[in-house]
Parts: sequence; structure tokens; C-alpha cells
Amino acid sequence: GGRSNPGGFLIEARRLDKSPAPSRVLSFEEITLKPTPESGQKQASRCTDCGVPFCQNACPLQNNIPDWLALSADGDLREAWKTASLTSTMPEICGRICPQDRLCEGACTLQQSGWDGVTIGSVEAWIADKAFENGWVEPIRPLAERGQSVAIVGAGPAGLAAADRLRSEGYSVTLYDRHDRAGGLLMYGIPGFKLEKHIVQRRIDRLVEGGVQFVLNTSVGTDISMDALRTKHDAVLLAMGVYQARRLSIPGCGPDDALPALDYLIAQNKRDLGDEVQADTAKGKNVVVVGGGDTAMDCVRTAIRQGATRVTCLYRRDRANMPGSAREVQNAEEEGVIFEWLAAPKALMSKGETVNAVRAQRMALSDAGAGGRREIVPVADSDFDVAADLVIEALGFEPENFAEQMDASLEMSRWNTVQVARGGFKTSLEGVFAAGDAVRGASLVVWAVRDGQDAAAEIDRYLRARTEEAAA
Ligand code: FAD
Ligand code: SF4
Repeated sequence: GGRSNPGGFLIEARRLDKSPAPSRVLSFEEITLKPTPESGQKQASRCTDCGVPFCQNACPLQNNIPDWLALSADGDLREAWKTASLTSTMPEICGRICPQDRLCEGACTLQQSGWDGVTIGSVEAWIADKAFENGWVEPIRPLAERGQSVAIVGAGPAGLAAADRLRSEGYSVTLYDRHDRAGGLLMYGIPGFKLEKHIVQRRIDRLVEGGVQFVLNTSVGTDISMDALRTKHDAVLLAMGVYQARRLSIPGCGPDDALPALDYLIAQNKRDLGDEVQADTAKGKNVVVVGGGDTAMDCVRTAIRQGATRVTCLYRRDRANMPGSAREVQNAEEEGVIFEWLAAPKALMSKGETVNAVRAQRMALSDAGAGGRREIVPVADSDFDVAADLVIEALGFEPENFAEQMDASLEMSRWNTVQVARGGFKTSLEGVFAAGDAVRGASLVVWAVRDGQDAAAEIDRYLRARTEEAAA
């Protein structure tokens, strides 16, 4: 290896090891294998330091990727870690679950020129894991207490990232979450085979040790009012994500005939965490998952691991037009999931009281219309049935009614997300800011982290200005 090896990619091929499908489906452990010191260094040395960091521009955090790859290639993991942690409050998490094929690695000059991109995410997770293992992660020890406090609603990645930055600046920080555990979708949405729960817990523990308070099992708007939060704290950050699941509306589908994806995923994540869970699993069942995003991929792969007889994914568009990451589709295929592309559910079929099949209809891409856009149209007489004892709906999420839930004068966007001022995070309520999915709509962890960090900086400026005003 070595940073002075611009031809490293000619010697080393891209290599990202996964455990083989037959063994990995037997557990909920992460499927990506960790690099050894030697292989990590070799993969990092593939970076040519091309001089135009497309990877960095494609990363929502603008991570200084070429620099920490060079340091890793030289074996200086501690410096690499320092560089990585300047721009990111959770590199070990983003390194695991960013859709790198669409972000940093997709933009890598090697990828673009046919040489296969550097395994950026894997190296990022590796150096951050080493930092935790070796005690290089600095505890949060503010230089001085500022005497002001910030409430954060929602302990997902946006809230956790903001808490990290605000606490480091010396603010007293309280995170409120309606779940019994912190972490948001990192803990309860994303399955262990993509992100093991102890990795998330490690971040939460660090915040607790740094003095961040967690108030769990507390729903803001129900258990504590927004007014109470605003009175108690000097600023509030809303980071409560989007949780209103879109439901399947087809004949034969009553309210209890299909299971919302997140209910299904939360139950399995709780099992992984050692909780007693009543909900049924997919064991021995024919499972049909409707949808084509990340959530759908997580459901089909969870069902395989629970021991389903057969798992089918129905998606109305084709493979090229699915919103989920291509990498996850490939993982699912390797694990035995059957994909029915261009297939839309039309009705649920029952025997007696019990659903036993999904009737689907073939779709096709139309000829380009006037606008040049190809539509998805049903194919006549193309109905077919897929056996189903368990139907899971993964059709995406809408925001809940935040204004009704929290404060009638909280201004909403036309997508029902929280409206923030242009180029920043201020909402229509004085001293209240918002970040993450609650503002963007369903997005990515790395964007939530970016928002959380930037919102923390804006809240810091706001509170400093208030202190100066008070002193004047
Ligand atoms: P969340 O993570 O949703 O956290 C919000 C928190 O607010 C939750 O803990 C919730 O309990 C709490 N909350 C909500 N309302 C209230 C209230 N009224 N009072 C108190 N607390 C409240 N992104 C990726 O980058 N890679 C992936 O592989 C990936 N996989 C995904 C898989 C699934 C199944 C899902 C659903 C999403 C996935 N995403 C993925 C998207 C990613 O998880 C989200 O974009 C990200 O978690 C958003 O972060 P957030 O902090 O804004 O909100
Ligand atoms: Fe790539 Fe995500 Fe890491 Fe940025 S945060 S370098 S996009 S894996």
C-alpha cells in the first residue's frame, strides 16, 4: 500500500467481501465482512488521488475522502479517523448504510473510467470501528457550560448528530423520543444485517456519557406539549422523521389483511435486541412484499431470515426504475427473493376469512408520449396470483400531521413536511428549528446527519446572538 502509489488500482482489484448467502440468511448479523489491516490498507491504496474529488462532492457531508484514504493506505488509521470525524458525527454508520453506489463510490473517478470504484464506505466504517476499539474516540467534554438548553424532538440520526454538536459546544441537551429506545430508524427500522444494533448503541452511549439527557417513551404533543418544551428550553429542534405509512387500497384488503412494513421490521429489531415480542414471524409462510424501495428490500430479506417458505417482491415498475439501491436488490436476489417486476397488486384473494393470495396484473412501459416520458400501463388479460399467507405493504411514508400534533401555528410545506426558512432550519415558531426527514420527506441517513450538524450550527449562532442581546 502507501499513499504514494498512484497506480495502486492497477495492482489491486476492488474487493468487498460479503458472507455467502447460504450462511448469512441464518442470522441477522451484518453481511459485509470487515477488512483485515492488510486488505483495508490495500483497498484504500486504490485511490489514485485523482485531483478532482468527485467522491467528496457526491457525499452529502462533503467528507474529505481522498485524505482519509491516503492516511489509511499508509496505515495511519488514527489520523484517518481524525479527518473522517471532522465532517461526520457517525462515519461508522454512514460507511455501512449509505447507498454508496449512488453517492461517493458511484462518482469515484475509477468507477467512472471502468476500473471499479474504491470501497469508500467499507474503509470509512473500518477506520471508525478501529477508533472505537482503540479508544481514539474523544469523549464529549465541552470547554465551558453555556447555561442554555436545547430540546430535540426525535432521537434518530438527525437528532443524534445535532445533540453531539450542541453538547460539544457546551449546551445542555435533552432528546425526547416516543420510542423506548433512542436511534430512530437506525435502531428500529434498518435491520441488523445492514447495521448491527450495538453499533448504534455505541453512539448513544457516547452521548449519554457526554451528558446528553434522553427522555424516552415520551411523545411530544401528547405526553408533553410543545409550549412546555419551549418554556423549559431556550431552543427546540424538531427531528421526528416521517411515519405515516401509505396503505394498500385494493379490493379484498381490509385494515388487518396487510402488515405495514415498519411494524414488521420493528418487531424483528426488538427480537434482535432481546425483547419478548408477540408478533408472528414469516416462518413457514408464503410472503409477498409490495413496493420497491429500501424498506421493501429490508422486509424481503428479513422474511428470508425468519424462514419463510417463499418470498416474492411485487413492484409495478421495472428494475431500472426502482427507487431502492441496486446493491440491496442484488443482495436480496442472492438470498433467494423472487422479484416480479412490472407487476401491480390488483386484489387480495381469500379462502374463508384468510388471505391466501395476491392477484397481480402485468404492467408494461408505454411508448414515449408527447412529453417523451414512458408511462407504466396495465397489460390486458395478464392477471396472475401469487400465493400469500403474509402480505407486507412497503409503499413509502408521509409526514404525520405535525401542526395538529404539536402546534397549530407551525407552518407546513405543501408536502406536509415542516416548513423551514430558505437555506436554513428555522421554522415559523420563534426558537424552533427542524431537520431531517421531517423537513425533507423520506430521505437518507447521511442527509439527516448533515441536517442535524448544520441545524446545530444555526442553533448555536441563534443562542449566541440571544446571549449578546441580553448582555447589551
Ligand atoms: P428518524 O430516524 O425517523 O427518527 C425520528 C425519531 O423521532 C424516531 O425515533 C421517532 O420515534 C421520533 N418521534 C417521532 N415523532 C415523535 C414525537 N411526536 N415525539 C417524540 N418523538 C417522536 N437510509 C439510508 O441512508 N440507508 C439505508 O439503508 C436506509 N434504510 C432504510 C430502511 C427503512 C426500513 C427505512 C424506513 C428507512 C431507511 N433509510 C435508509 C432512511 C433513513 O432511515 C431515514 O432517512 C433517516 O433515519 C431519517 O432520520 P431522522 O433523524 O430525520 O428521522
Ligand atoms: Fe460515502 Fe456516505 Fe461515507 Fe459520504 S458518508 S463518504 S456518501 S459512505
